[in-house]
Amino acid sequence: MTGTEIITAFNTLRAGLKELNEYAKIAEDRKIKDLVSATLDQIIPIQFGLSDLKQENDQLRTEIASLNERLNEKAKFIYKRNAAWKITDNGEEGPYCPNCHNRLVAESAIPGISAKRYNCFTCTSSVTIT
Ligand SMILES: [Zn+2]
Repeated sequence: MTGTEIITAFNTLRAGLKELNEYAKIAEDRKIKDLVSATLDQIIPIQFGLSDLKQENDQLRTEIASLNERLNEKAKFIYKRNAAWKITDNGEEGPYCPNCHNRLVAESAIPGISAKRYNCFTCTSSVTIT
């Protein structure tokens, strides 16, 4: 379950409890109304916890992107045939994604066509190596 799915499920649960609370008021059932009200009180700290987790997650994503950028700066790439190629002591290595410099993964070759499609699973780019 992703963070967004958890927040969506939480919001659905909270909306359901609020609706139940309204029904309890209409039915004038004090016991159900108190129970729903107490449950709603207990989910407030969870809401704050989810917000803190989301903030922390966003911060970590930013840090990872920054670290990846620094790692990529250290590696030297050349750009040709629609892709990035890493320059190593043994020559060129690749293909790498021209956008994010992660390794590209080949799709199966199409018969009769020499160009091959490659996909980046990090930024979801598609590249045809010429
Ligand atoms: Zn990419």
